[in-house]
Amino acid sequence: MYDYDLLVVGSANADLVIGVERRPAAGETVLGSDLAVHPGGKGANQAVAAARLGARAALLARIGEDPHGRLLLDAQRDAGVDTEGVLVGGAPTGVALITVDPSGDNSIVVSPGANGRLAPQDVRAARSLLHASRVVSAQLEIPLETVVEVVRNLPPGTRFVLNPSPPRPLPGELLAACDPLIVNEHEARVIAGHELGGSPEDWAAALLALGPRSVVVTLGAEGALVATGDAVSRVPSPVVDAVDTTGAGDAFTAALAWRLGRGSPLPDAAAYAAQVGTAAVTRPGAQASFPTAEEVAAVAA
Ligand code: ADP
Repeated sequence: MYDYDLLVVGSANADLVIGVERRPAAGETVLGSDLAVHPGGKGANQAVAAARLGARAALLARIGEDPHGRLLLDAQRDAGVDTEGVLVGGAPTGVALITVDPSGDNSIVVSPGANGRLAPQDVRAARSLLHASRVVSAQLEIPLETVVEVVRNLPPGTRFVLNPSPPRPLPGELLAACDPLIVNEHEARVIAGHELGGSPEDWAAALLALGPRSVVVTLGAEGALVATGDAVSRVPSPVVDAVDTTGAGDAFTAALAWRLGRGSPLPDAAAYAAQVGTAAVTRPGAQASFPTAEEVAAVAA
């Protein structure tokens, strides 16, 4: 018996957001709005997104012993995520300093802080969490060697899902464990290591050749594409008025991982994930925008 449907191994950041009329040039100071502080980071986002859908979710992450860390822990607990695997200390909590102008364009500086200290030995020490989880998902806002250590310690039968964001070339050992590798167009290009011509079907074929067992390409309002060695199919997104796409990819990945753990075939899990991603773009924010299962059903109807 598994205690968790999904274990997310990844980052937790405080997003510090200031609205500005114009983003400052070098040497310039501009005045902005009041500061807004939101819980974020791809790992924390995925865990909250899964829990909000009803998954039994756990998070393996590292935060600092500071108010931002407490904000992140509270957000996880409020959503119902198990935080036994959230380690505290070693560096300040990761922070993203975000300035947004009226057109929605932003400039972001990320200080990885404690995320950069989530080490391979932390993964080994959390082996009981890995064994208690049906599916494990990861992203790349923590050290790459830590993500590699996750797949080295994956129990037989546990499924691994990777969203390689921010993207970088990946070792074959990591790629071979992905089922699926979930990428958008930009990530697909970086992972492939060259410009990708042709259609998303062609990109997926190029990525499959690198070794993952399956590939999912997210296509924004166009939905997603699912590719295994045997078959390629597309899943649509419901048509909605997008308000804010922040976190849509995280909601998509979490929903897909959770559904796979419940035994859904990959195309069905991706179809559901597209509905979840779409529901998330109808509301502002990242974690604040993630839907419950009832809200997904309303978007899909
Ligand atoms: P990322 O945020 O990683 O770039 P995408 O933008 O492709 O990922 O979004 C992930 C998923 O969220 C999509 O597959 C889709 O289901 C949903 N989504 C994103 N943007 C929109 C949109 N404008 N309209 C409807 N659904 C969207």
